[in-house]
Amino acid sequence: MKLARYVDEAAAPVSPTNVVAPSKIVCVGRNYVEHAKELGHEAPPEPILFLKAPSSVLAPEGTIIRPPQSQRVDFEGELAIVIGRQARSVRRSEWRGYVLGFTCGNDVTARDLQKKDVQFTRAKSFDTFCPIGPVIETDLDPSALNLVTRINGEVKQKGNTRDMIFPCDFLIEFISSVMTLCPGDVILTGTPAGVGPLQSGDVVEVEVDGIGTLRNHVA
Ligand code: ZN
Repeated sequence: MKLARYVDEAAAPVSPTNVVAPSKIVCVGRNYVEHAKELGHEAPPEPILFLKAPSSVLAPEGTIIRPPQSQRVDFEGELAIVIGRQARSVRRSEWRGYVLGFTCGNDVTARDLQKKDVQFTRAKSFDTFCPIGPVIETDLDPSALNLVTRINGEVKQKGNTRDMIFPCDFLIEFISSVMTLCPGDVILTGTPAGVGPLQSGDVVEVEVDGIGTLRNHVA
């Protein structure tokens, strides 16, 4: 089943203006080996977690604003998990009962600030830096989905979720052993190789098998 936007037609499936507003957006860094390599890192021994501010959520077709503080703003196409039930210390085998469904996400990143700051918070949390949508697919096996990111129609990232170092069930167990996940919370599961910069006027699309295409503009 594809859940459309719950209340506000212009809003993302999960956004601060929606009924199911995320209390947090949990991101997983370097969850694909080839992406870790392109940033000059080894595959991590356990998931690297960071947060994006909930206020960074952007609806499908919304415009990503490149902030004046950054000279290098990158796209990161990702599979997003949307939590459906409060989850605390969930066992790996029971992960699916806590998940509402899946959607597409773009973990927009000020790459220069990420490298400069010790923490990722600033680089990941500018307003409009978390496009998400277009729908939440509730009936989907996320274990082997093609994920493609296009800029102005040209393919830049081509990955498959089977190449995640830490798959969805592992992530739900790992993250819920740290923090309580609440309905509407979003987990961005990491990006495959091929990240690159966004320029004003670009149209960026993240497409995941079985979900659809998340399209946004850049200014
Ligand atoms: Zn990311």
